[in-house]
Amino acid sequence: MPQPRRSKKQTETEDYGWVISFGCKTEGVLRRLKVDTDPAADTRPIEVPCLCGEVHRVTVSPYRRRRAADEPFDLEVVSLDELR
Ligand SMILES: [Zn+2]
Repeated sequence: MPQPRRSKKQTETEDYGWVISFGCKTEGVLRRLKVDTDPAADTRPIEVPCLCGEVHRVTVSPYRRRRAADEPFDLEVVSLDELR
């Protein structure tokens, strides 16, 4: 007997990491830091080595959000622990 064909869609959300936005006061722009692991577990401030050459202290919790698939970013780390 022919089985009705069910389209088996992958509905799981793909993981593109997280984005933490931070302001670069030196250059007056908003930059994006990509993090592979969910930064929610630890919201201590991080120190980001910015493209401008300085290290910016960034508060984590209010700015974290899921990264879109095609969203550009300026910096990338696996874990925020690298920046503490
Ligand atoms: Zn900067």
